[in-house]
Amino acid sequence: MSTTDSGPSNFIHDIIVKDLETNKYGGRVHTRFPPEPNGYLHVGHAKSIAINFGFAKEFGGKCNLRFDDTNPTKEETEYVDSIMEDVRWLGGEWAGVYYASDYFDQLYQWAVQLIKSGKAYVCDLSPDEVRQQRGTLTEPGKESPYRNRTVEENLDLFERMRAGEFPDAARSLRAKIDMASANLNLRDPIMYRILHAEHHRTGDKWCIYPMYDFAHGESDSIEGITHSICTLEFEDHRPLYDWYVEQLGIYHPQQIEFDRLNLTYTLLSKRKLLQLVQQGLVAGWDDPRMPTISGMRRRGYTPEALQNFARGLGVSKTNGTTELSLLEYHVREDLNKHAMRVMAVLRPLRVVIDNYPEGLVEQMEAVNNPEDPSAGTRTVPFSKVLYIEDDDFREAPPPKYFRLSPGKEVRLRYGYFITATSVVKDAQGNVVEVHCTYDPATRGGDSPDGRKVKSTIHWVSAEHAIDAEVRVYDTLFTRENPNEVEEGQEFTSNLNPKSLEVLTGKLEPSLANAMPGSRYQFERLGYFCADKDSVPEKLVFNRTVALRDTWGKIEKKSK
Ligand code: ATP
Ligand code: MG
Repeated sequence: MSTTDSGPSNFIHDIIVKDLETNKYGGRVHTRFPPEPNGYLHVGHAKSIAINFGFAKEFGGKCNLRFDDTNPTKEETEYVDSIMEDVRWLGGEWAGVYYASDYFDQLYQWAVQLIKSGKAYVCDLSPDEVRQQRGTLTEPGKESPYRNRTVEENLDLFERMRAGEFPDAARSLRAKIDMASANLNLRDPIMYRILHAEHHRTGDKWCIYPMYDFAHGESDSIEGITHSICTLEFEDHRPLYDWYVEQLGIYHPQQIEFDRLNLTYTLLSKRKLLQLVQQGLVAGWDDPRMPTISGMRRRGYTPEALQNFARGLGVSKTNGTTELSLLEYHVREDLNKHAMRVMAVLRPLRVVIDNYPEGLVEQMEAVNNPEDPSAGTRTVPFSKVLYIEDDDFREAPPPKYFRLSPGKEVRLRYGYFITATSVVKDAQGNVVEVHCTYDPATRGGDSPDGRKVKSTIHWVSAEHAIDAEVRVYDTLFTRENPNEVEEGQEFTSNLNPKSLEVLTGKLEPSLANAMPGSRYQFERLGYFCADKDSVPEKLVFNRTVALRDTWGKIEKKSK
């Protein structure tokens, strides 16, 4: 497999190469990414963006950003703005921004043309009746009693539909194709419906709106798109796509379908994500638990990680489900290269080093990024009283537990070897303080006598640490497939009640000036990103992704 801008080589790639060889479109490659502005983009869209913008880039072609805005009741300018921001953030460089609504006049003219050629008629059946008379896969549909209206009558009625003479859904314009077609989409599909609704761009100019199928191929045609790449659910619509452009005798782009991205523990449907937002089940479209591009950005995912993930997926002709862990792998891979290492303690336990001089503060040298020597070093203050992770001490250690416990010696990262000597407990018997001794000869973390310790733990100096709110996330849903529900339940019943845990952590002082959006590795804990809510007086961090936790796995196995 060769890796290209759009991902591993694949059947769409092969089609484009062949079309270039045969000069099918005069050597052009022109794709488009066509979101409906009815919500925020999610990681499924990142795949479509990688494919469409990727092929354009690879073949020196163009990719348009097209808003497929034919459903005025669901679409908003807020969504248009967020989509542009997200596509840009993901590195999509569009040749131009277009709107299906810019073509409403042209589409209307084309509808009139089809009426005139006897290929479209005004039907007075209600949408429900149209559906009922459509037939099934085994039974042909019934012809509408309005199917054989004269061209003059159709032209008159269609004009009056446009003029606003009829209420919503009272009539529709239908293509006259074949009520017995094996493809249900060809059984006189609706082209235009009446909808007295304000459109986010055209206002109240129109009270009839074209259906997706009538608008999409024609929009592609107008823009000179060569390869109209969409997801598999449109495969059965392709004959209709072809029918419209052929009947109209206009330039004919080719529709090609690929598999939608599905991710475990994740829902990729704007409609359902909107429901979570509207019901207040998440803190908005950019809640870091959301699979939206804006949520992932806020959580600390990088555009490179999402690009690498999306490109690596490739394309296929069957829908499958991708493991969420693959996405997380790409996030770690990228952050590992670029994130500054710092020390932070999320569940603090006090450690007092009894033989360390009172009042002494040493500045210990720490490496900013072992993967990137140019990132340099910084100093971290060390003193008599520290915090370590609660989990890094066990009074009665289980087998194979190599961290701090009474009588055991461990290394404090960039610090000294310490040995636990005694503990202080609260009234309930919980350990609240550990007393230790340190070996002054081990400064910087090595013993001159070659003594080995099995564990290195992180710490912060109590007197110098800064408090921060740390938001630790788990998957938003507890089920691998959140659409799988008990009888009578909704997908929201699969929400994970523990998807957000808020902790008060202790951070090393170098984080005092962390800007919102800056990303770090908290050593041994994971990658974290300063949230947009973060201010110098109150720092807030999101856990982007945990490190692979080897101890957690050992413990789980032995349970
Ligand atoms: P949703 O159901 O989430 O609204 P959609 O397909 O209706 O998805 P659009 O805004 O119409 O969303 O999508 C724009 C483009 O992104 C389309 O070409 C669509 O096929 C593609 N796309 C949407 N979801 C996915 C996904 N999960 N995987 C790959 N491509 C997707
Ligand atoms: Mg849609």
